[in-house]
Amino acid sequence: MHYLSTRGNPDRKRFCEILLEGLAPDGGLYLPESYPQVDDATLTRWRNVYHEQGYAELAFEILSLYVDDIPAADLRALCAKTYTAEVFGTGEIVPLRHLEDGVWIEALSNGPTLAFKDMAMQLLGNLFEYELGRRGEELNILGATSGDTGSAAEYAMRGKKGVRVFMTSPHGRMSPFQQAQMFSLQDANIHNIAINGVFDDCQDIVKAVSNDLDFKRKYKIGTVNSINWARLLAQVVYYFAGYIQATESNTQKVSFAVPSGNFGNVCAGHVARQMGLPIAKLVVATNENDVLDEFFRTGVYRVRGTADTHETSSPSMDISKASNFERFVFDLLGRDGARTKSLFGEGLAKTGQFDLSADPVFAQAASLYGFVSGKSVHADRLRTIRETFEQHGMVIDTHTADGLKVALEQRTEGVPMVVLETALPIKFAGTIVEALGREPERPAKFEGIEALPKRVKVMDADVDAIKALVAAECGY
Ligand SMILES: *Cc1c(COP(=O)(O)O)cnc(C)c1O
Repeated sequence: MHYLSTRGNPDRKRFCEILLEGLAPDGGLYLPESYPQVDDATLTRWRNVYHEQGYAELAFEILSLYVDDIPAADLRALCAKTYTAEVFGTGEIVPLRHLEDGVWIEALSNGPTLAFKDMAMQLLGNLFEYELGRRGEELNILGATSGDTGSAAEYAMRGKKGVRVFMTSPHGRMSPFQQAQMFSLQDANIHNIAINGVFDDCQDIVKAVSNDLDFKRKYKIGTVNSINWARLLAQVVYYFAGYIQATESNTQKVSFAVPSGNFGNVCAGHVARQMGLPIAKLVVATNENDVLDEFFRTGVYRVRGTADTHETSSPSMDISKASNFERFVFDLLGRDGARTKSLFGEGLAKTGQFDLSADPVFAQAASLYGFVSGKSVHADRLRTIRETFEQHGMVIDTHTADGLKVALEQRTEGVPMVVLETALPIKFAGTIVEALGREPERPAKFEGIEALPKRVKVMDADVDAIKALVAAECGY
């Protein structure tokens, strides 16, 4: 299997070459040259694999189609080490919970940080350690977080050989639970840096350090953001596992509703559908930051400025642009790299938007690729959380509530609708109290974490001071 860039660069790469990379050199995103096709017999075999051997073995089957530069025995061992009941709370790893007639919630948030990002990040941690070990290299991951991504990255990389994590976050701005989750880690390779400033200051530091190419090369600076192909690939697996649990035969179709921000999660659904998984609709649910809903309704993709990007009660979906969206548009345009490049490169840089409404391919987003969309705002979120609790006794998180709200608008008679749960409610307790007048349940392992000793450095938004810290930790 070879990988290409969405912007037409003729180079082709293997999986392990792009594993530790971010963007392709031409600024595009990596995609496989073609999507392996899963026929009826294979899907039936995978049904048995999931039921009889479990999620890790299913993950191995799917990853094998995309990864041919890791020996099979090693890849199988990496999957087995990642997807365990111990790490993900249940043997099914991603159990379906029945909500009401034809509507299911797929539980993706029982990993170490209680958000679906663990599903991919835990595998990434093991893949990084494996590949760095093989090469005899080190990697210093520098990131900026306002919550979910940073903690998922730290819990995936803690104690991993060859990897250090330097995670900046805005001092005092994360929830006490999120701070406790990250800052209580005592692992020597995890460095929490609380910056006197806001999230944008943290992002600016990461950009400034990454733009210093000499420093970047000398200290092997890398990232783990959601454009990483390996993360996306890991997410494809739970669409298959969700489908298998919701159906008894391959003649049935299933729709998925996905709380969306950077389009990573639902893009994995797109890949699964392109592989032949019988998915009816892919329902993109956004919050007030409705860049994606606007596109699927109108054909106009319009990046938002800072002033237009809202802080909401489903904060992990507060985006101004959707970093993985280019992957889908590349497919939508019939894999025309030159056109993708002109839309996302010069086009977006100049005007901050592009318009496909007059192009016949726009209608295919729905007709050929199954995409539909909808939006959920704070009042919808509170009402959905309240109704779900009153009618079904289930407390759902704010992001999952956005997904469910839009799912109920888009359901079709006779087609199971699977809503992807992207976090547990305890992470966003304030809004749950606002909706229900009570605190959400806290998993036992998180009892009292706010009182644990914290390992964090408070620093000013000073790029040179951050560089000095990285250099001192590396000792070269
Ligand atoms: C990251 C995240 C999302 C958005 O996922 P994308 O892949 O960026 O679309 C939704 N909900 C939660 C809780 C998240 O952490």
